[in-house]
Amino acid sequence: MLQLDFHPTGRHFLQIPGPSPVPDRILRAMSLPTIDHRGPEFGGLGLKVLSGIQKIFQTRHPVAIYPASGTGAWEAALCNTLSAGDHVLMFETGHFASLWQKMATRLGISTEFLTWEGKDEHLPLAGGWRRGVQADLIEARLRKDTERTIRAVCVVHNETSTGVTSDIASVRKAIDAAGHPALLMVDSISGLASADFRHDEWGVDVTISGSQKGLMLPPGISFNALSPRALEASKTATLPRAFWAWDEIVEMNKDGYWPYTPNTNLLYGLSEALDMLLAEGLDNVFARHQRWGAGVRAAVNAWGLPIQCADPAVYSPVLTGVITPEGVDADALRRLIHQRFDLSLGTGLGKLKGRMFRMGHLGDSNDLTLIAMVAGVEMGMKLSGIALAGSGVQASMDYFASHAAPAALKKAA
Ligand SMILES: *Cc1c(COP(=O)(O)O)cnc(C)c1O
Repeated sequence: MLQLDFHPTGRHFLQIPGPSPVPDRILRAMSLPTIDHRGPEFGGLGLKVLSGIQKIFQTRHPVAIYPASGTGAWEAALCNTLSAGDHVLMFETGHFASLWQKMATRLGISTEFLTWEGKDEHLPLAGGWRRGVQADLIEARLRKDTERTIRAVCVVHNETSTGVTSDIASVRKAIDAAGHPALLMVDSISGLASADFRHDEWGVDVTISGSQKGLMLPPGISFNALSPRALEASKTATLPRAFWAWDEIVEMNKDGYWPYTPNTNLLYGLSEALDMLLAEGLDNVFARHQRWGAGVRAAVNAWGLPIQCADPAVYSPVLTGVITPEGVDADALRRLIHQRFDLSLGTGLGKLKGRMFRMGHLGDSNDLTLIAMVAGVEMGMKLSGIALAGSGVQASMDYFASHAAPAALKKAA
């Protein structure tokens, strides 16, 4: 029997770090009939989502919306700004940084992959996959580039494979300190609308994002937020591009339309998500995720297991990676938890496969859904015979009870 026609009672616990659970309000908005994408009503919808999404990126400049997954928007960022053989500096923070680097290589770009060079105590194989972008290494490398051949610096904001949120402002400072003209391109596919992100203030030239993480939408649309310098670079860049080309999109977007059929129903969903996020206020959205992250990390600490992110300064507010004890297959643990408790956790990606799992705490969650997630993990670990130092459930309950959400305090006042 196909598993697809089987729905157990209650909600499935979709606790992977994207796709994140889609709120009913967004699902309902998306169920409206599809309209003519060249018709009179469509322009209003287009203009609304295009200006709303600028507020989420914190930019006054154009944002291109693609009917594609985040991977497509990665390609769009590269092929609009670069030419074959161009040299770019990328930073290895984890699996997603590595996939982006592989893509750049496939497109004929020459990549240089900087990485943290220390030795890790808990998981030697992890290398730099437990830490954030080291801006000082970027600055030193750019200073050595006296010919100014490096065209772009590419980094991942929230590395979803590890649970590390890098300091993007420090990367901009490093580029400026070196007096280097390289463009700054940032993947904030899983950071946007969960972790603080400021496209204009941080001097980012292209920010890449997607729908299925902090924006609480199903997968299927993605974004390039642009800067005037990125638009300027696109005029002389020569990598082949047609579907991804910014010029026609930006031109037609002025009236709220696209050169081809956009994903109409996902734009209804985006319109609803923007209403929800902007009514809450971005500062509240970020604070909500920070608090959830702290509550979930309290559980991991109580279990006595190492958190994948080794540097507390860059803990992700979006997800927490947990390193399983030596000899425990993290994927077998995930399978058991899924089978027994209808709870999906993120797998260890790339070289972390089998050594860790990821708990998402983003989007349409609340204290009790997160405590339930922690309970599912704790029961699964006990069933797997993993020795735990203490109860993570108790630690999460204590954290959430003693740190009231700002919204709850406001309601009580
Ligand atoms: C999810 C994700 C991607 C890939 O996006 P897709 O929509 O799966 O193509 C890339 N980078 C990061 C940081 C992500 O979280």
